[in-house]
Order: sequence, then C-alpha cells, then structure tokens
Amino acid sequence: MLQKTCRDFANSELVPIASKLDKEHLYPKEQVKKMGELGLMAIDIPEKYGGTGLDYLAYAIALEEISRGCASCGVIMSVNNSLYLGPIMKFGNDKQKEKYISPFTSGAKVGCFALSEPGNGSDAGAASTMALKKDSKWLLNGTKSWITNGYESEACVLFATTDKSKKHKGITSFVFDKPITGLSLGKKEDKLGIRASSTCNLIFDDCEIPEDSILGDIGKGFKIAMMTLDSGRIGIAAQALGIAQASLECAVSYATKRTAFGSPISKLQAIQQKIADMALRIESARLLTWRAAYLKDNGKPYTKEAAMAKLAASEAATHSSHQCIQILGGMGYVSEMPAERYYRDSRITEIYEGTSEIQRLVIAANVIKENS
Ligand SMILES: Cc1cc2nc3c(=O)[nH]c(=O)nc-3n(C[C@H](O)[C@H](O)[C@H](O)COP(=O)(O)OP(=O)(O)OC[C@H]3O[C@@H](n4cnc5c(N)ncnc54)[C@H](O)[C@@H]3O)c2cc1C
Repeated sequence: MLQKTCRDFANSELVPIASKLDKEHLYPKEQVKKMGELGLMAIDIPEKYGGTGLDYLAYAIALEEISRGCASCGVIMSVNNSLYLGPIMKFGNDKQKEKYISPFTSGAKVGCFALSEPGNGSDAGAASTMALKKDSKWLLNGTKSWITNGYESEACVLFATTDKSKKHKGITSFVFDKPITGLSLGKKEDKLGIRASSTCNLIFDDCEIPEDSILGDIGKGFKIAMMTLDSGRIGIAAQALGIAQASLECAVSYATKRTAFGSPISKLQAIQQKIADMALRIESARLLTWRAAYLKDNGKPYTKEAAMAKLAASEAATHSSHQCIQILGGMGYVSEMPAERYYRDSRITEIYEGTSEIQRLVIAANVIKENS
C-alpha cells in the first residue's frame, strides 16, 4: 500500500515537475509539504512525536518511489529522515525531541546535518570546526561544507571539536535553531545533479548556541555521526534505486516504440543485453537494501550490509542511467527526455554519505574481521 501510494504520488505530483525543478534550481517547497502530509518526512519516528511510526524497510520503499519521480525530493526527504531526525531520536533528550522532532515531521520545516568541511569529507574525524564553552554558551567557529537543505533548514545537527587534543574522540554533536546570529550561508552550489535541493557552506563566526544544545554526550559526536551514516546509507541506496528504476523504465518504454531496421529496437539482442544487465543490478541492489533495512529494524548489526547496499545501488544507478542514454541514442542526450537528468542525478549517490571507495573500505574491514 505504501509503495503504491508513493508511486501514485510521484507519478502525479513529481514526474510532471521534476524537469522544471531541475532546470530552474527550484526548491520543491510545495512537494515537500505534500510529502509531509503523506507522512514521508518522518517515517520511522514514533507517532508520539508526530512521526508515521513505520520502520526502515518502509522508509527504503517509500524513498525509492519518491526518488524515481524526483531525486532532489529524494535527498531532501532522506536528509530530514535519516541525518537530521535520526540522531535526535536516538540520542536526544526529551526536551530536544519535543523541540526538534515534532515541528519537523509535517514537511513544513526541514533540518540539516553538518559534518563535512572544506578540508575533510571522507576523513570526517579530522573536523576542525570548534565549539568552545563560554560562560553558559557554546561558541562555534569554522565552516561546514556541502550542506544539503542548507538554505531552507530551520535546525541543524552539527559536529564540532570540543577538545582538539583528543582528535575524533574530541568531537561533540549539537542541535540548534537556524538562522542564528553569527551563522552565514555560502553561495548555493551550482551542481551537476539533484539541482532542486540546496547545497551550501555554513560559516560559523563566533556563533553562540545555548549550553543545552549538546546532542548525546561530550566527545561522542564522531560515533553518533558514524551511526547516523550507517542508517543514512540505506536511504541513499533507496534514492539510487529510484533513479536506476526510472532509467530502466524510460529505456524499456523507448525501446519498445523506437524502430530501426524495420522493427522495435527492443527486438535487438544488443539492447536486450543492456536491459537484462540493468534489471539484474537493480534487483540485486534492491534486495541488499531491503536486507540492510530489515537487519536495522530487527536490532541486528548492519554497518557492512548498509555499505554493500549503498555501493551496489549507487553503481546500479550510474550504470542504468548510462545505459538508458545509450538506448535512447540522440534522444538520451537532450533534456526533452529525462534520461540525461537521471545520468546527472545518479552521480552523487556514489559520492555523498561515503564515496564508493569508502564503502569498499567499510565492507573490507568488516569482512576481514568476520573471517579472522
Ligand atoms: C551534493 C552534495 C551534498 C552533500 N550533502 C552533505 C550534507 O548534507 N552534510 C554533510 O556533512 N556532507 C554533505 N556532503 C559532503 C559529502 O559527504 C562529501 O563530499 C563526501 O563524503 C566526500 O568527501 P570529499 O568531497 O571531501 O572528498 P575527499 O574525501 O577529498 O575524497 C576525494 C577522493 O579521494 C577518495 N578517498 C578519500 N579517502 C580515501 C581512502 N581512505 N581510501 C580510498 N579513497 C579515498 C574518495 O573516495 C574520493 O574519490 C555533500 C556533498 C555533495 C556533493
């Protein structure tokens, strides 16, 4: 039912407008609001806090369908669910849950997650943004980069160093309101894909946040970030699956209509080989994604499985969108058809929330541990 609801919503509300949102770099405010009304902006948050009270498998299924219609809406949904609400739900106190979860479940407000910096992305433990205690406040200084929802978000989960000498063990997480004095936003990045979502630097210049902004315990920020990214990767896998599935459907639809040498190109074995490879990669990645979600939902370890899901799904997305363009020929290369947007949107799924190289490191470390 959830899958059908999301697919119908994506077909009627997202597919018709996704190209315009992309071309004009328009934040999909109305669409995000409607996604909130459908319960998609806080899927696994308990109803007590205004969430939908479903699980991560439901989240993966819903996010795939939304991303099939519009990958920008997919990333906005994924950041709000996994990266912003996720750590507050797991590590926040009652007051923080009340203040920073309930108003962010309806689609009216979104949050952001600020970990990366200009000098460190993959090496997140090297964070240099400082949080120093000053009287009864924390004073923030530094720059966070590439922050999704940077422009629209009204609250921020931030990772900053409270004790530089302890390196990654000196990182603490915070949650606070946006905008706030001392915080300025960098330019809106002009991106290859997911262009309807905003991405920018958050620049903290003697920015004061209240003493009780700490999320979890002092010095536990790196652990919180890594745990949050484990869940987030299931979301990015689902986003990638949506782009891959849209590419497959676009390619098959075109191949059955386009004729060459007297018959539809879908009759050509060269085209059939491509379609088979796309379907195989997508269905394998979907099973990996659902397995990771299922393990999380059942309280089992899922770090390796989430990394495998993200790696397989993002590579399925870049492969399928590439092949989609090939099957469409010239029509794949122009923006009258969505294939070129799928190609551009797919690329980010191999970069954020851990590059493909980092996923392989995570998988290898776990496999070596399991087998030694
Ligand atoms: C559109 C967009 C949205 C984003 N949204 C957010 C957000 O909301 N919040 C946030 O905090 N961040 C966000 N990011 C940042 C993103 O997570 C980082 O870009 C990503 O983690 C990679 O970091 P980097 O860009 O610094 O690349 P680097 O870490 O500099 O990596 C460069 C290259 O080196 C490789 N590499 C690095 N280390 C290793 C290693 N140990 N072994 C093998 N290869 C390695 C990488 O795989 C990559 O190929 C976003 C980025 C983009 C582009």
